[in-house]
Amino acid sequence: KFIGGKGLGAKILYDELKPGIDPLGPENIILFMTGPLTGTSVVTSGRWCIVTKSPHTGIYLDSQIGGNFGHRLKKAGYDYILVRGKAKDLCYLYISPEGSTLISAKEVWQRGTFETEEILKGKHPKSEVASIGPAGEKLVTYANVMTGKSHMAGRGGAGAVMGSKNLKAIVVSGNEVIDSVQDNFKELTREFRTKVQNDDGVKNRNRIGTMMWVNMSNEGGFLPTRNYQSGVFEEADSISGETMLEKYTYANRACYGCLIACGKANKFETGKYAGLDVDGPEYETTALLGSNLGIRDLGAVAKASEMCDDLGIDTITAGATISFAIACIERGYLEQHDVDNLTFGNDDAMLETLRLIAKRKGIGDLLAKGSRAAAKEIGHD
Ligand code: SF4
Repeated sequence: KFIGGKGLGAKILYDELKPGIDPLGPENIILFMTGPLTGTSVVTSGRWCIVTKSPHTGIYLDSQIGGNFGHRLKKAGYDYILVRGKAKDLCYLYISPEGSTLISAKEVWQRGTFETEEILKGKHPKSEVASIGPAGEKLVTYANVMTGKSHMAGRGGAGAVMGSKNLKAIVVSGNEVIDSVQDNFKELTREFRTKVQNDDGVKNRNRIGTMMWVNMSNEGGFLPTRNYQSGVFEEADSISGETMLEKYTYANRACYGCLIACGKANKFETGKYAGLDVDGPEYETTALLGSNLGIRDLGAVAKASEMCDDLGIDTITAGATISFAIACIERGYLEQHDVDNLTFGNDDAMLETLRLIAKRKGIGDLLAKGSRAAAKEIGHD
């Protein structure tokens, strides 16, 4: 009746939550959901999702994420995890086929998601980790949940809900065999794989990933540009998928078992960001941290994307909120104070603002609530 993590998660949330509860209060719940095909070899079944009441919008949230975590959770013998209440101190949840336990996370307090994952994987070999960064601990309303360095449940602030529960991470290990429900499951899976493999749209997705949308949306006149004041960015080609492929991409990246492999690993060998080696960025990140901030250097976008992933912030809302702040500064509604020259096109100011948001310092504290709440505080129409 309620198919998939999203459907079942919505049903559980509806049954469990009383109307009007605070999303960052102990009465909220957070669900880490797999679907009926998770852990099998079906293409794209590596996707899983987090369901909760969002601290950013105040309504139902399902935030979709890839990587290997969902697959591992299923192999540990679980369909989903439900977390409620609040731990006394910062902790992480360790789950295996033998059961679950809460362990102190003091060691990874205020650490970025990359380091947190590395440390926890060192303690629990052959595990997968989903963690929050400093932004989640500081309850930034659009804090994300990260796994595998480049997969995130970005939208809606699931990371802040984890932070509000003093839950730094979930670590899961297990390798149980998953039985398929239907006799001809393997045959059907093979047939589906062949169809996917031969699809032209899929071939293109494999070649260039979501970054194909930069030039396409610019040509269509809907590429977010300078706080959505335009749909055409005159420098779009410099941050496009075609430029990325030609100059920086050296490998494809995939979620568990996915032959589409739409992720792109990029290395920047020259320019201001020389030495940067990163998975991504994706289209939406490039649109919001690139053209929407007037930034024409793909290295700067990739750097900002990596920084958001490590600090645990959603790249999309972060870009939209910073562009809103710049538009306010231009109109004299907001003062230039703790960031030097926060203007469209200034990548240094963008990176500094991201740091302040994660720490909730200065202008970052205002922007950590997102543009809608910040607009209310600033008080202009
Ligand atoms: S690699 Fe791309 S297409 Fe495949 S599951 Fe992950 S996000 Fe989806």
